[in-house]
Amino acid sequence: MTREKIYKGIAVSQGISISKAYLYTRRQVSISHHEISENETEREIEEFRNSIAISKKELTKIHSLSIERVGEENSKIFQAQLDILNDDIFIDTVIKRIKKDKRTSGFIFHEEISKLANILLSAKDDYMKERYTDIIDVKNRVIRNMKREKLVSKVDESSIIFAHELTPADTILFSKRKVQGYATDTGGTTSHTAIISRALRIPAVVGMKVISKHVLTGDTVIIDGFEGTVVLNPREETIELYKEKLIRYQAEQTRFTKFVDLPCETLDHKKIEITSNIDFIEEVDFIENCGHCGIGLYRTEHLFLSKGEFPSEAEQIEEYTHIANVTFPRTVTIRTFDLGGDKVLPTTIKENNPNLGWRGIRICLDRPDIFKTQLRAILLSSTKKNVKIMYPMISSLDEVRNAKIILDEVKEELDRKGSSYDKDIKVGIMVEVPSAFMLADEFAKEVDFFSVGTNDLTQYLLAVDRGNELISGMYQQFHPAVLRALKWIIEKAHNNKIKVSICGELGSMMLATPLLIGMGIDEISVNPAVFPEIKQIVRGIHYRDARKLVEKVLTFSTEAEIFCEAENFYLKNITLEK
Ligand code: PEP
Ligand code: MG
Repeated sequence: MTREKIYKGIAVSQGISISKAYLYTRRQVSISHHEISENETEREIEEFRNSIAISKKELTKIHSLSIERVGEENSKIFQAQLDILNDDIFIDTVIKRIKKDKRTSGFIFHEEISKLANILLSAKDDYMKERYTDIIDVKNRVIRNMKREKLVSKVDESSIIFAHELTPADTILFSKRKVQGYATDTGGTTSHTAIISRALRIPAVVGMKVISKHVLTGDTVIIDGFEGTVVLNPREETIELYKEKLIRYQAEQTRFTKFVDLPCETLDHKKIEITSNIDFIEEVDFIENCGHCGIGLYRTEHLFLSKGEFPSEAEQIEEYTHIANVTFPRTVTIRTFDLGGDKVLPTTIKENNPNLGWRGIRICLDRPDIFKTQLRAILLSSTKKNVKIMYPMISSLDEVRNAKIILDEVKEELDRKGSSYDKDIKVGIMVEVPSAFMLADEFAKEVDFFSVGTNDLTQYLLAVDRGNELISGMYQQFHPAVLRALKWIIEKAHNNKIKVSICGELGSMMLATPLLIGMGIDEISVNPAVFPEIKQIVRGIHYRDARKLVEKVLTFSTEAEIFCEAENFYLKNITLEK
């Protein structure tokens, strides 16, 4: 009996599959590098031109297949590979060298394309380094075609593919065989295998280091794209456990899809937008489950937290563009780094009072280099005109005005370079500090929208640390002061004809939904897990009743009274469908 073994890697595409493994080993491409005689040069050149033509044909096919399966944006890689083969200067250089140096076409081509690849490998930027493997992929394809070797061998349908490394083309081609998962030794969250498998909605785990040395074609395997694990030769009990997990996952998917196409409005037709809060790029899958709802708050801090340093411009562009594409035609509100406070600070400096310290916009304004890089990346991801910018922890008008000066500088730099971006990009602020709520009228004249961060607003309004267990009972999100502040903010915004959303956790609390609607909120950005419930509540009540409820609760002076009234309203009006 073979023993069950568990391997860990990086989860890059959600889902669970139980199936047979297919181990894909790519043969090493070898080239002959002997000298050739004068009358052999023409044959070598012809062989080279032929293999370029076959490779172009193959890549064009893969490109169209990829567009069909994962869309234009996720297929750009194949166009980039085709561009190399369509580069006449590059092709001419190879041909001239075959004639001059009298060496085989494979040898000269290998040398020339390796020069290109090595430039990328020496780049500081991780994104450029990743493009190195794309060029190596083109190199191997052309050399293989010189030898007329076939690329992908026969795979049984519904297998889980294991490989040391998969090129984007492998990933797309395998998907034709209804593959159930991908697991590779190499790769990270932004590798093309990751991006394509997410787009294909096939579970994938990458960065498994040595998995390809342990799995054999035909082995029974489980791939868990949530946990980033692969179970090799699972025991019966393990298979049963995963089957249950799979059923739960499928049920969860249905729970989301059931409400996707229904309009998000109250019984008396008041429209409310429900969007999602996203903390990690992996959560973007939820967005697809929610019928491509918009993203009301995309917290970018994870880019810093996961690396321990600020991400490069290229990394940010890649991530923001991906999110903008997945969300399109809905919008994504990208919040600039909100580091410090309860989140990690990008220095070793210790502060006595971090929540009142160097955090959010304060760090960005003190470090224009970091701020400008992020703003540039956001602007460059905004070409589809569905991206908004939001600043956290705003406490004074000067901060908004200074941020505007910096944003204008970045826009001018991009204009000089002729880069395209959304010139009318909307800019808003988080209202989460008492001074911002008190000056809401003035702020509303400076920005395009508000998003109320009730997590911090509650903390600062009540002077109760949001993370301190000792006083957690005092952290009251339904506190009358919080609700009155919310009402005030919404009124001031509407007086100035700008929209208001809520992105704090209060927006994800079912008892709060009627209150928010009654106050006139335009958008509720929720934790994706409660999306179906919040949508049902919106659809289950009358706006006129919610307004009456608000009128009443705003006369109360304790949280207990408000809570009790909100609960009665909920029990009377809402029955949730599971
Ligand atoms: C908030 O403060 O309500 C908010 C949404 O921001 P964060 O929780 O990231 O501080
Ligand atoms: Mg906050």
